[in-house]
Amino acid sequence: MSDQLYAEPGRDLAVATRADVVVVGGGPAGFSAAVAAARQGAKVCLVERYPYLGGLASGGMVLVLDDMCAGSEITVRGICGELVERMRARGHAVYPPEGERGHDPAMFRKWSRWGLFDFNTRTKPHPICYAVAFDPDGWKRASDDMVAEAGIELRLHSLFAGSIVKDGRTVGVITESKAGRQAIMGDIVIDTTGDLDVAASAGARFSEGAYMVTTVFRLGGVNTDEAERFQFEEPARHAVLDLEARRVIGGSWDYWWLKTPLPGIVWCNCPHMTGLDGMKVEDLTRAEFEGRKRIHAMVDHVRAKLPGFADCYVVDVAPQTGVRQTRMLEGEYVVTKPDITERVHFPDSIARGRDYYTPYRALLPVGVDQLLVAGRHYSATPQAQKISREIPPCMAMGEAAGIAAAMALSAGTTVRNVDVAALQKRLRDQGADPGDKAPVWAEAAE
Ligand SMILES: Cc1cc2nc3c(=O)[nH]c(=O)nc-3n(C[C@H](O)[C@H](O)[C@H](O)COP(=O)(O)OP(=O)(O)OC[C@H]3O[C@@H](n4cnc5c(N)ncnc54)[C@H](O)[C@@H]3O)c2cc1C
Repeated sequence: MSDQLYAEPGRDLAVATRADVVVVGGGPAGFSAAVAAARQGAKVCLVERYPYLGGLASGGMVLVLDDMCAGSEITVRGICGELVERMRARGHAVYPPEGERGHDPAMFRKWSRWGLFDFNTRTKPHPICYAVAFDPDGWKRASDDMVAEAGIELRLHSLFAGSIVKDGRTVGVITESKAGRQAIMGDIVIDTTGDLDVAASAGARFSEGAYMVTTVFRLGGVNTDEAERFQFEEPARHAVLDLEARRVIGGSWDYWWLKTPLPGIVWCNCPHMTGLDGMKVEDLTRAEFEGRKRIHAMVDHVRAKLPGFADCYVVDVAPQTGVRQTRMLEGEYVVTKPDITERVHFPDSIARGRDYYTPYRALLPVGVDQLLVAGRHYSATPQAQKISREIPPCMAMGEAAGIAAAMALSAGTTVRNVDVAALQKRLRDQGADPGDKAPVWAEAAE
């Protein structure tokens, strides 16, 4: 032992459970992977460090699903679409009906404060599109139902602490919980931690990036009718006062508050903070501390100054810190920014975002077998990840990973050798869009 190092003694660990497929991380990607694998007949264990499912979607209170359409075409369906419809049936999700999408100033006024417009287009006002505003507890409820119906063994309150690798293949994971350190054994492991915890610990290659960190929060007691009236009927005064509010919080999108399915409650995708590393305890602590300070300063300000906000109060600050980017896999294929912006089509495409494609190879680590990676830490450059990591495409990747794992098991092969054409077909058969059919714009390029 030295001042800088402590050698932890080795010990035998109890095996808490065994499964065919162990999914680590219960965010949008992990939930989809677990449900997809279980529905194919695999015995699935889903491990999550927090007491709920949803990751950044529920715990990070990122309350809009976007990047799921290209113009009028819906590009992400499958488990994502199913979850949306379950939430919607209970009044926990809202999206513009087909007839109200497109370029129309009246529809922009009706829907823009829900955040349901296509901000990737240059035209102003942006067109209203298929995107979904939802309630975080609605997400938790619908995903609890789907996980229970699929017969998944869900282990919440369990922090992944290490990969178990034997002869170059993952055979299980170690978790830390109130019950101590335990092993969970599995034939295939899917890393959906968002920070590549499992694959990095198993020895897979990765790159590192960083993007702004946000402590999202919700305000209650907002008179949204008055706030919208002020925005659209007194645009000059609104522009001045809104900018002042954004200066107080220091770092936000133009639309810093958005409506939620709960009347009078808005979510605020701010304050943004830069120069922080989402893998460092010190930086995460700083983000929380600084974020809350800015939030309370802004609330005092808008209560005094901004029409519609006189009686507002903080409902909650998201329990999960808004970290967008940390470690990313360097897998069999690394998706680049031109792949996204030029909408490059891949023959082994297994998931779509708005108008971009994800190849199966971007879920496969180099040098470690029986391990799949899905979600915001998929194999992409930092520049590509920044524009292709929204919730729906992460769910689409998860769904593909789950089915691939189940197919590898039933075919007695490895995930690297899965028949991708059969995987694409299975995805399509159950309502997902793997992006296997090249669109007209891509045919010329291939
Ligand atoms: C502030 C902010 C705003 C955003 N805005 C939007 C938006 O408007 N629309 C949109 O679609 N997307 C948005 N995104 C992006 C989107 O939220 C994420 O990219 C998406 O949630 C990624 O899903 P995921 O499942 O890959 O990862 P995550 O959502 O991060 O889920 C990872 C899960 O793994 C768990 N986990 C992590 N480490 C461990 C461990 N060691 N042990 C056990 N469990 C672990 C986590 O608790 C979590 O549940 C935003 C992101 C941020 C941060």
